[in-house]
Amino acid sequence: MAKNYAEAIEGLKKHSEKEELEATEAAKVEKITAGLQNVSCECHGEPFDPVQRIIEGFMHFKTEEFDKHRDFYDKLAKGQEPKFMVFSCSDSRVAPSYILDFKPGEAFAFRNIANLVPPFDQIKYTGVGAALEYAVNHLKVCYILVIGHSECGGIEGLMNLPEDGTTTTDFVQQWVKIGWPAREKVLRENGDLCFKEQCKLCEREAVNVSLANLLTYPFVRDGLANKTLGLMGGHYDFVNGAFELWLLEHNLSPTIHIPPCI
Ligand SMILES: [Zn+2]
Repeated sequence: MAKNYAEAIEGLKKHSEKEELEATEAAKVEKITAGLQNVSCECHGEPFDPVQRIIEGFMHFKTEEFDKHRDFYDKLAKGQEPKFMVFSCSDSRVAPSYILDFKPGEAFAFRNIANLVPPFDQIKYTGVGAALEYAVNHLKVCYILVIGHSECGGIEGLMNLPEDGTTTTDFVQQWVKIGWPAREKVLRENGDLCFKEQCKLCEREAVNVSLANLLTYPFVRDGLANKTLGLMGGHYDFVNGAFELWLLEHNLSPTIHIPPCI
């Protein structure tokens, strides 16, 4: 395995020579390596300059936000006291700061495929455990919110897994199996629904599995027992522009619809 960036580039070139790739494939590799060096390339079939996009994006933020609210950012630079920890999907359409208008400093975030919280495990899921431990024990967030969403590819992947649970990908399928109890519940209780409807139900059930899994972390349980921490589930529907919110207390609370159902 390559130890650094330069070795990775060399490895990519050597690979193209050794394997005697088809001319088009070799051209693709050349293009990628050239792209990495010149930082200008095509993306999704369109010309795209990632450096320019990042420069423009940051300068927009700096002039329109940062420079106009220096007091706010000066205060924030001294420390953070987020009220929320948020788990949401890596899906590019589900940015929690954007859809819930969280300001910098307001939400400590962890994003992953299908917004899943695995059960406490000090070997397999240390990234999640570390973020949770830091958020609860150090930052002392008051609420943990898990947000599912419409058209979630991770949930669709979970529902599409073969019954025996065998996987064919390196990571994704194994990861989404964290939501297996949600899939089982949906299939058990709604086996007659079409696949699309089952996925919709599973998007919400997987949030509930994550809320239940949060209870396997001792510091989360302590926070709940001491009433310093609350757990919330949510579902963002980006097809209809709607958000559902529910709480986990002794049971799941009735769902709050935002905007309210008419
Ligand atoms: Zn998703």
